[in-house]
Amino acid sequence: MKKTLKKLAGISLSLALAAGVFAPSVFAAEPDTAAQPGFDGKAVTKSYTKYDYEVTSPYADVDWDAYGQYKANMHAHSTASDGNATLAAMIEEYYKQGYDILGMADHGTRSNIWTTRPSNNGGLLDGLTSGKNTTVLTQARYDEIISGADRDGRGMTQVLNANEQNPASNHVLSYYSTLGTSATASNYTTIIQNIDNRGDGYTVIAHPGRETGGPLNPTNTSQYRTYIDLFTRFNSLLGYEISGKQDGETYNDRILWDYTLMEMAPKGRNIFGFANDDAHATNESGRNWMTFVMSENTADNVKTAMANGAFYSSSRYAKAENVDARQYTNVWDVPAPAITSISVEDNTITVSGDHYDTIEWIADGEIISTENSIDLVEHKDSVNSYIRFQLKGEGGISWSQPMLLTLTETEVEYLACIECGEALEFGHQDGDCYANGFDYYACECGYWFYVEIYETIGHDLVLVESRPATCEADGAEFYACAKEGCDHWEYGEIFPATGHSLELVYDADKDQWFNICVNDGCDYWEYAEFVSAAPAAVVTKLNGNKNDLTITIIEEYTGGTANIIEETFRIDNNAAGTYEVGDHLVYVDTKGNTQIRECYIVE
Ligand SMILES: [Zn+2]
Ligand SMILES: [Zn+2]
Ligand SMILES: [Zn+2]
Ligand SMILES: [Zn+2]
Ligand SMILES: [Zn+2]
Repeated sequence: MKKTLKKLAGISLSLALAAGVFAPSVFAAEPDTAAQPGFDGKAVTKSYTKYDYEVTSPYADVDWDAYGQYKANMHAHSTASDGNATLAAMIEEYYKQGYDILGMADHGTRSNIWTTRPSNNGGLLDGLTSGKNTTVLTQARYDEIISGADRDGRGMTQVLNANEQNPASNHVLSYYSTLGTSATASNYTTIIQNIDNRGDGYTVIAHPGRETGGPLNPTNTSQYRTYIDLFTRFNSLLGYEISGKQDGETYNDRILWDYTLMEMAPKGRNIFGFANDDAHATNESGRNWMTFVMSENTADNVKTAMANGAFYSSSRYAKAENVDARQYTNVWDVPAPAITSISVEDNTITVSGDHYDTIEWIADGEIISTENSIDLVEHKDSVNSYIRFQLKGEGGISWSQPMLLTLTETEVEYLACIECGEALEFGHQDGDCYANGFDYYACECGYWFYVEIYETIGHDLVLVESRPATCEADGAEFYACAKEGCDHWEYGEIFPATGHSLELVYDADKDQWFNICVNDGCDYWEYAEFVSAAPAAVVTKLNGNKNDLTITIIEEYTGGTANIIEETFRIDNNAAGTYEVGDHLVYVDTKGNTQIRECYIVE
């Protein structure tokens, strides 16, 4: 009747995998165990040069998705100098065309708030227009334009103290600084130096081609060394105008820009490119502009973006790049290319834009790629200390600011396969309850070897149940592995089945003997059949010749149970006789007082 043990619920006996080491499944070959621990000469050390460009981008802080793009012109003239429209008329023209930022840089005058005539600080005005008056904005109109009250709230930011300073024939644009043109300065070095010393503004070299003559190799001109000297000495000199008017004088100023960058960028000095109309009449507006990328169009943001180069420049004309918007269309307001994002990741710069059909990446004056993404390492033979790009389309051209580059070369050592020479890859295999963990090096050719083996620590056994034995079934302790993912379990101590504790019971109604198990919780019973009866007698001496005879009969039943019947009779010394004990007749012959000579059941 012994039962077999059942499995614990939820635990299966499935796992009996051979202990050992799992091979990484990608590698068919057997590991080179002789190689462990350590490399043991089974790999060779090789090295390669790793190239890393650090890109210093003027747009690094620009959030292209969240920021707005704001159209700017910072060089135009009015009747305050040699322009033929009043200051008010010029401002109105730019406002009408949707400009967001305007600097009115008349010759030799410093633009005040546009409700006030520009200040003539004693400049020479190029000998043209000294002393001219002009019409300014009324306070009411000024307020409207600044706030954009009649332009859906899109106001136009005034760049304060704009000034085209021209002490001689050299022109430099200055902004924010209240320094006036010095009547005695013979060239603009003094002006740039003074503003740099004051620290209250920025300068930009205006239409440099007028001075250099726009040669294909500007380094041949004496003026070039002057520019290099100025950029070397004065950080507040931000850059060149790289296009102006219809690109008549500025057509090779992008070449000058590149040459200057080739010399200055290795020193960590960036040179920004500005594009301005240099308009002297209202119909000379809208040809060149800059787009400032800012969180918000405020005077402070404009000043910061100007200094950081967080803007790009555009033109309808670019003779050197073979761009003339009019050659494509007579529709003036075809949009010019726009830059919509510049992202730098590792060694790759990726650009997106609108309204362009061609992108050209330029390093050291050469076009080196025409893809939207450029991997600098792939182009490292033609890239040095800066890179910039330009977008061309039907509406014109847009130039990014240069991004400065610093190349680091690192020798990287690696382990190579002794079989095929390729780089080995380090790997790690976790051990589990059954298998060792290990580190290894592997090659795609299939060769691999152990580096270190972490011996399995086996199961983490926890007693989950202790099931007691019953009358018929063994009990046992059950241990299961507590580690995640392991369903191993095993027996602990086995408790043997106790067997029934039978008690003989007579049922008078049925006239039947039963054996019943008295163990707790057990309802086992069986019929008990008589097997045999065995008598025994004992005499106890009383006073005189009287004695007590006690006869005991043990009736044995199947199942090992017994029924005991006991009767006591008063007898004399040396008595012999047959006595009725239960259902049985027992003959007992005694001798003397207490001896039993015979005792048996009479048939
Ligand atoms: Zn000028
Ligand atoms: Zn000008
Ligand atoms: Zn190999
Ligand atoms: Zn386990
Ligand atoms: Zn029992």
